[in-house]
Amino acid sequence: MSNDKKPKNTKFNAYWIYGIAIVLFLGFNIFSGGIGGSSEGSTTPSQFFKFLRNGDVKKVEIVNKRKALVYLTTKASNKEIHKKNKKESFLPTAASSPDYQFEFGDVQLFQKQLEDTIKERQLETDLDFKTETNPWGDLLSSILPFILIIGVWIFIMRRMSGGGPGGGGQIFNIGKSKAKLFDENLETKTTFEDVAGLEGAKEEVQEIVDFLKHPEKYTALGGKIPKGALLVGPPGTGKTLLAKAVAGEAKAPFFSLSGSDFVEMFVGVGASRVRDLFKQAKDKSPSIIFIDEIDAIGRARGKSNFSGSNDERENTLNQLLTEMDGFGTNTNVIVLAATNRADVLDKALMRAGRFDRQIYVDLPDIRERKEIFEVHLKPLKKSKGLDTDFLSKQTPGFSGADIANVCNEAALIAARNNKKAVDKQDFLDAVDRIIGGLEKKNKIITPSEKRAVAFHEAGHATVSWMLEHASPLVKVTIVPRGRSLGAAWYLPEERLIVRPEQMLDEMCAALGGRAAEKVIFDKISTGALSDLEKVTKQARAMVTVYGLSDKVGNLTYYDSSGENEFGFSKPYSERTAELIDKEISNIIETQYERAVKLLEDNKDKLTELAEVLLKKEVIFKDNLEAIFGKRPFVVEEAVKSSPKNKEEEE
Ligand code: ATP
Repeated sequence: MSNDKKPKNTKFNAYWIYGIAIVLFLGFNIFSGGIGGSSEGSTTPSQFFKFLRNGDVKKVEIVNKRKALVYLTTKASNKEIHKKNKKESFLPTAASSPDYQFEFGDVQLFQKQLEDTIKERQLETDLDFKTETNPWGDLLSSILPFILIIGVWIFIMRRMSGGGPGGGGQIFNIGKSKAKLFDENLETKTTFEDVAGLEGAKEEVQEIVDFLKHPEKYTALGGKIPKGALLVGPPGTGKTLLAKAVAGEAKAPFFSLSGSDFVEMFVGVGASRVRDLFKQAKDKSPSIIFIDEIDAIGRARGKSNFSGSNDERENTLNQLLTEMDGFGTNTNVIVLAATNRADVLDKALMRAGRFDRQIYVDLPDIRERKEIFEVHLKPLKKSKGLDTDFLSKQTPGFSGADIANVCNEAALIAARNNKKAVDKQDFLDAVDRIIGGLEKKNKIITPSEKRAVAFHEAGHATVSWMLEHASPLVKVTIVPRGRSLGAAWYLPEERLIVRPEQMLDEMCAALGGRAAEKVIFDKISTGALSDLEKVTKQARAMVTVYGLSDKVGNLTYYDSSGENEFGFSKPYSERTAELIDKEISNIIETQYERAVKLLEDNKDKLTELAEVLLKKEVIFKDNLEAIFGKRPFVVEEAVKSSPKNKEEEE
């Protein structure tokens, strides 16, 4: 049933102001006899004196010392000139109404001139002085300018703040917090059931729900309720979702906003918004404040501030620190914040007493991905027997948001193909599309380029098939996709620690493409750009971050505090810099030589694979097995880390 009753808009509407101003303006004119209020024709003082000297004027009435009303003699009224003047004024004339009116400057001067003329010409013209009072007219004429000025001012302010007539008039709320409030009246609630996986994080935030629901349980023993928790993790891992679930479970008002909502072009607005946010939250306590992307205001102060331009951000952060200190442990307001970059946050923000807890929300592992798939598959019409284990295996490194996207994309692909249900192939296509971009079957490519791409991709496939630690291959394609002309797709093992031999094998496989071009055509090309980029980064990380180079030694130049982010000064000498460059080059060249050697030894198999690829365009693991035989390496299965879980399983 639709609810047609709309709440009345009782807001003070800008149209009212304009309407009132127009009505007042018209009223003023009517009362003061401006528009259509008089029937006399107008004249000028000099013309009037001409009429006077001719003896045409019977009476002159001087009103309010500024206006003269002129009455003609009966004889003069019939004169052609006056008749003509009246015709031009288009106004009907009543018998008792004046024939002319005009305004003069100084009343004394005018009166003297008038009396002199009458005396000089011995006229019988009557003079009458009158004061007309029009209280409305006087009042209106005094306040109308102010009303108009106020109207124009409100109009300009509304335009500046982006609100049209009838809009919110945000300029008046500029210092108010922009937080969205989700409270118990909201119908769609997020609960912990909507958050799949993330068990550790869920456990920690569950405690926060308990703090809000039963604070006395903790305070009775002398404990203090934490003031804040910081959710840290890569994008799309469900930090916002988790915070919403806390609010849904705690059944507490939830103020949600992003760090950038504090910042405005006006000085002092950020701090004022922080104050207002905390005030609102305290008024509704127990409540939760959620600040997404807190790094927008919470970056370490005093760094990279060469121009002084981010003072406003610092003021906002200072106010946030003060507020978090200022509210007591008994106010029942908990601040949750989320960021992808905990390393750049100000240390003062992270200290105990503010964000007491840091909750890591990591990319989901294979089991968690399965659970996330199950959540997002619920609303889809899927084909029978769709294997979520298989889907989670195919999506290493995907975040929760990526998985939600895969499910949606798969449904769209199935719909495009007029299917009744979403099947496994739709999911695989969706994964490919998300990783590699859209297929571009019509891309124009010459046969020799296509051949080069086929050998390049076959080179990757051959080398990775033969190396123990390289990621297992899923498929190889030479259909252009996104910006690439071909691709070899791997299923990387999900490793928590990586050994140097694993890194080296991966680099060797990445260089397999260029090595194949060299072995087959004895020419290299620009096609290896992304491979070289990946390999160079990896080699640099081995030497300067992980301390895996014998020559440079067991040291790292990585700075987790982010203080040396801009790298103006290198933390090593010129000699070490040279050594690092040499080591990086050495690692890469060794792996390239290794790939070339492997491919030279297996040139026939490489050629066979490339020919199959040219014919089929997409080949899978089975095609490789047909050429190379089964891969002799066993992939170690991952097990749960916690012994408690192990017991449960047993
Ligand atoms: P960002 O750091 O970019 O703000 P985030 O970590 O806050 O990202 P969310 O906005 O919470 O990510 O997640 C985006 C979407 O991804 C969610 O709306 C949800 O559909 C899906 N998602 C992410 N993680 C999960 C999960 N664990 N369970 C179910 N859905 C998830």
